[in-house]
Amino acid sequence: MNEMQRLKAQGAEPALPTDYGIETLAVHAGARPDPVTGARSTPIYQTTSFAFDDADHAAELFNLQTFGYIYSRITNPTVAVLEERVAALENGRGAVAAATGHAAQFLVGATLLESGDEFISSNNLYGGSVTQFGVSFKKLGWNCHFVDMTEPENVERAMTDKVKFIFCEGLANPGGIVLDLEALAEVSRRHGVPLIVDNTMASPYLCRPFEHGADLVVHSTTKFIGGHGNTMGGIVVESGRFDWWQNDKFPSMTKPDPAYHGLTFAETFGDFGFTMKMRAVALRDYGPCMAAQAAWNLLQGVETLPLRMERHCANALAVARYLEAHPKVAWVSYAGLESNPFHALAQKYLPRGAGAVFTFGLKGGYDAGLKVVDKVNMFSHLANIGDTRSLIIHPASTTHRQLTDEQKTRAGAGPDVVRLSVGIESIDDIIGDLDQALDQA
Ligand SMILES: *Cc1c(COP(=O)(O)O)cnc(C)c1O
Repeated sequence: MNEMQRLKAQGAEPALPTDYGIETLAVHAGARPDPVTGARSTPIYQTTSFAFDDADHAAELFNLQTFGYIYSRITNPTVAVLEERVAALENGRGAVAAATGHAAQFLVGATLLESGDEFISSNNLYGGSVTQFGVSFKKLGWNCHFVDMTEPENVERAMTDKVKFIFCEGLANPGGIVLDLEALAEVSRRHGVPLIVDNTMASPYLCRPFEHGADLVVHSTTKFIGGHGNTMGGIVVESGRFDWWQNDKFPSMTKPDPAYHGLTFAETFGDFGFTMKMRAVALRDYGPCMAAQAAWNLLQGVETLPLRMERHCANALAVARYLEAHPKVAWVSYAGLESNPFHALAQKYLPRGAGAVFTFGLKGGYDAGLKVVDKVNMFSHLANIGDTRSLIIHPASTTHRQLTDEQKTRAGAGPDVVRLSVGIESIDDIIGDLDQALDQA
């Protein structure tokens, strides 16, 4: 094998025993010293395209008969390390990275839905996802039924013959709501459709949805996976366990693909057929790929995911306890609190902690909420979560502004709601900052 072939093989070979602990996988999975130079940190393969060995090699690559790199819209070695890393963290079979979390969600739709198809989504979602599903997907003829998934029977009730998947956030942004993933997986199994979990808020350190019956996981890697608030990204991970042949709902997986001269993805690629289909057709044709530099930034972040999540969760619990006892605070919605209605589900699905993002309401309503956001010093007032820094926002006037009042309330973003993403700073400084802001509210 020449150096070039060894390099190319990097993206296709598992690099590590899969029974390594998640802290080890976060540092090592998918990466090895560069075979040409010995560079220990994954290089940034800042190139659009990759030279072929000869004409036969080029033909095999284009036919998907061999693994390797052609063009960075489809695969790139730096991006491949991140894909393998996150697939390992989720204990999945394969992954495809995308430019953003929204791009990852779009690629799932583009792979599984025809115009006129339907899917069922939890209504406790990131505000941008509510708009993406309810407005922009609709223009493509992809019809979303939003239901309250805290009652899994609601999914059963919304089910139709045209539904192709069930989508939810296991730990929801912004409401601090935890869903019963095993009950939802049961409904999806009964109807022969995949359960797709947006695991952005929990990260694979706190919850691995595949262990509870999910079939696909999506992430906005912009948030906790990257963790430093500096890089956009998204990823879709496949469990490898969904049977695409059990019914006739998934022709894109089980029928010959005209965009790939008759290849049948579920047949040729088996338990990573979805990953291959999404990459070779949806990513190739729509093009929202992750850049190599972005993948490298995200790899720096993911190495410390377990350490960061531990501190995020410990700080968030301390802040939630402080707020719960504060006279100006009407309610705190953090599943890590014993008083929270989702506490039992959190103990089952998030035993290491209920995440870093939660909401609380002020007795002074909308105006008091805006005041707190204005008076904090160390907290940053901005529309992101999952940064090392502590973040604060008033969702009703910002991230959830495009939603109707009813949608806002249903999504846990009513007028009095303030959302925190608790960072990894000193807990005394975090609480001290909130304390002085609440004093002024
Ligand atoms: C941010 C976010 C998204 C969208 O991801 P982008 O990277 O911003 O496109 C999707 N789901 C959740 C839960 C998010 O927090």
